[in-house]
Amino acid sequence: AYPHYGTIDGTIVMIGFGSIGKGTWPLIDRHFDYDRAKFTVIEPDAEKVAFLQEHQIRHRQVALTPDNYREILGELLEPGKGFCVNLSVDTDSLALMKFCRELGVPYIDTVVEPWAGFYFDTTDNAERTNYALRQRVRDEKAANPGGTTAVSCCGANPGMVSWFVKEGLLTLARDLGQDVAAPTNREDWAKLMQKLKVKGVHIAERDTQARAMPRPRDVFVNTWSVEGFIAEGFQPAELGWGTHETWTPDTAHTHDTGCRSAIWFERPGAITRVHTWCPTPGPQFGFLVTHNESVSISDYFTVGDPGAPEFRPTCHYAYHPCDDAVLSLHEMFGAGVQQKVHEILDVDEIVTGIDELGVLLFGHDKNALWFGSRLSNEETKALAPYQNATGMQVTSAVLAGMVWALENPNAGIVETDEMDHARCLEVQRPYLGPVEAHYTDWTPLQDRWEHFPEDIDESDPWQFRNVLAT
Ligand code: NAD
Repeated sequence: AYPHYGTIDGTIVMIGFGSIGKGTWPLIDRHFDYDRAKFTVIEPDAEKVAFLQEHQIRHRQVALTPDNYREILGELLEPGKGFCVNLSVDTDSLALMKFCRELGVPYIDTVVEPWAGFYFDTTDNAERTNYALRQRVRDEKAANPGGTTAVSCCGANPGMVSWFVKEGLLTLARDLGQDVAAPTNREDWAKLMQKLKVKGVHIAERDTQARAMPRPRDVFVNTWSVEGFIAEGFQPAELGWGTHETWTPDTAHTHDTGCRSAIWFERPGAITRVHTWCPTPGPQFGFLVTHNESVSISDYFTVGDPGAPEFRPTCHYAYHPCDDAVLSLHEMFGAGVQQKVHEILDVDEIVTGIDELGVLLFGHDKNALWFGSRLSNEETKALAPYQNATGMQVTSAVLAGMVWALENPNAGIVETDEMDHARCLEVQRPYLGPVEAHYTDWTPLQDRWEHFPEDIDESDPWQFRNVLAT
């Protein structure tokens, strides 16, 4: 018997039935009472529609656009009830969220996504940052506080990792012999991070999932949305910028409006490498791909005036995708064109590997703590159908976010940093495989090739100057 999280009256509309939508559907089915006849998927792709037909899931084969979304969603959603679960690419999260709140329908998504075309047609790189995309949602929250709950960016990352940061801080406090109760508001969480002397956070991920067949040339292979990964990989490299940093790269840009917690570079994230650490490989390269959580976590844990903070952590993604995706990126950037064939590794073709996704809290008295999920594809098979380990970490966060939204129906627009991390992890944890804390004495100054001079600061190991690979 699976835990039961209540009844969802009215229509549940799921937008997008790709790797994440398909994996979220069985979790909704398992954990909520709802009217199956009304559950509706909006999905333009014929291949996915075939699955929906086969499983007799009500659907509309159409792509949402700025011109049609109010009409299509307006026909399907029932005011004041149901749920809108947005798991698509190429739809504007803010537009959809605003419309759902107008109708009083709870809403959740896993990324602040723009309408089709935005990522590549926009020429101003500042506008293509996640900072800009996120700030629009924060501005809407400030302009229209409270009201129907809309959960922004509740996947694995962004999403679950924000809950891991808090759980990691409590673990660190305990292991340092400090007797702290879990803070109950943002200011106190930020002060706790400051008190524990955490300088920053890597969202440190190693995906070792692989299939038996070698990657064919001209095919982009990944363990989740290829389209989503290419789009974010081509956005500028971007990170939350901490108060301990003494050096700034030449190409860095700052912001003078909004929360001002982040900087970005004139360079795509998916070819910008950083030194990082995960339990399985130890030291490794990750890519500095921009993500909402880099901006939100550094914003949330800021102490003092956002314009001149007393404390703020550095925070960024340090992503080693599956090996086939690393090769796909290498090929794509080298060729200067995107591969036309896209493949997402299926749970049944993967023969080995885990998705090891956690937060590396660094700079404190125990040096560094990695806290995260080390879920294997093999274990995933026994947990839920239609997804690999990567998908499971995302869909179970969507489930947790939906449960939280139903339990907090008038919380307004929230990010995962602002939700009850303990409740969310309680819901999610059965789907995460081993969730572990690992301390390491590794720093970015260790295990380097020493034959060439490098632009590093040997006096202060956790400077971003040492993390950034040249
Ligand atoms: P996917 O590419 O497998 O599926 C996306 C689906 O959206 C496709 O089926 C596509 O046909 C559909 N779609 C495209 N345009 C649409 C439109 N205009 N209207 C409605 N549907 C449309 O992607 P995925 O791996 O399932 O990821 C889905 C979303 O979740 C992406 O935005 C991705 O960035 C995000 N994601 C977030 C996390 C996280 O941890 N936060 C992790 C993975 C994916």
